[in-house]
Amino acid sequence: MLQKVSLGVKDINNYRMLLGSELIDEVEALARDLKGLRLCHINSTPFGGGVAELLFSYIPMVRGLGIHADWQVIRGDRRFFTITKSLHNALQGAEYPLLEQQTQRTYLANNQRNARELDPNYDVFVINDPQPAALRHFCDGINAKWIWRCHIDSSEPDKETWQFLRPHIESHDAAIFTMEKFVPPDLRGPCIAIIPPAIDPLSTKNMPLPKAEVCRTMIDNLGLDRNRPLIIQVSRFDLWKDPFGVIEVYKRASKAVPGLQLALVGSLANDDPEGWELYAAIHQEADKYEDVHVFSNLNGIGNMEVNAFQRASDVVIQKSIREGFGLVVSEALWKGTPVVAGNVGGIPLQMVGTLSNFLVDTVEECAEKVVYLLEHPEVAEELGKEGMAHIKNNFLMPRLIRDEFSLIKELVGA
Ligand code: UDP
Repeated sequence: MLQKVSLGVKDINNYRMLLGSELIDEVEALARDLKGLRLCHINSTPFGGGVAELLFSYIPMVRGLGIHADWQVIRGDRRFFTITKSLHNALQGAEYPLLEQQTQRTYLANNQRNARELDPNYDVFVINDPQPAALRHFCDGINAKWIWRCHIDSSEPDKETWQFLRPHIESHDAAIFTMEKFVPPDLRGPCIAIIPPAIDPLSTKNMPLPKAEVCRTMIDNLGLDRNRPLIIQVSRFDLWKDPFGVIEVYKRASKAVPGLQLALVGSLANDDPEGWELYAAIHQEADKYEDVHVFSNLNGIGNMEVNAFQRASDVVIQKSIREGFGLVVSEALWKGTPVVAGNVGGIPLQMVGTLSNFLVDTVEECAEKVVYLLEHPEVAEELGKEGMAHIKNNFLMPRLIRDEFSLIKELVGA
């Protein structure tokens, strides 16, 4: 059997104080219509990255609403995950000339093996991202509705890769994308829904923490100086997140802001073999600068520490080159910390109004905006407040559950 991630139950009523009753009532009404539904999300890693982060909060909250929800994780070896990382990159536009017959066979054989080990007793399956996208093809005997959930920017996929994946995705009953423009124009068949992701404001990663004592002390304990300015980027070690660009931003910004510190906080996931090599290369580059630090889940940086980092930083950077959504942008803004981020993918959804003045295309622009915010703390504070309000109104978990429940209700005809 596939691994089921062990999770508990969360009460959505805890969110009433924060969000008011209208949205929560709406979610509860939908949940009543779906009562007893058996829902299963499937992805390829129980930790590291945005999908795992989402499911970790989503599943317990959905269970609290009377839905029988589970999360199964597919298995694979290094070869399989090297292929799926290339498929992921190719869906985001990287060329993948090596999509040979043998590669396709390995990908499909692995999905077939996982299909045999899948617990089939659900009414709705949500398949996250390309890794398990062919499962549905091998599960013909299962009487369920199938949804493919795309978390990446698939607006300009590598043609060959897309043609290979397209029939598998088209065999689903529905497909969810974060933005309209991510829907490949030749996708036919499934019902299309546009639903952006969301963060859990009460999770360990996002819950309130006293900035002055707790956050700054945690930062001190990691060997950083609480009295000097700090900028961070929190992300998987992935070239699309432009980690070397961020070090370049630091080099430029530190000329204008003496004593500046940079922390690159990254995580490694077991479905991302590339990440481990990149981690070493980033470390090597960072080690050239006394005030550039690399932290990761390998040396004890968990949700609480990420929370503290996002609160204690003067500016959060997310200099992505491609980005499906970038939960880290919402996480930082929710904490009132200003963000300077790449003007790509789902990031602009999160940075509207004045926040959009801090969307950047180049390292130079990024360094300039970072320095501006460090030199104008009053602007930074206002920006943080604007960000917090925008995230509260648009990107918190109950809204995501409402949107997904509406789609599921339509599919199962409840
Ligand atoms: N993250 C983390 N520790 C790290 C780096 C990242 O917990 O060292 C989390 C981060 O807080 C966010 C998720 O991983 O919740 C990354 O999601 P995002 O959508 O930003 O990017 P993805 O990894 O899905 O491309």
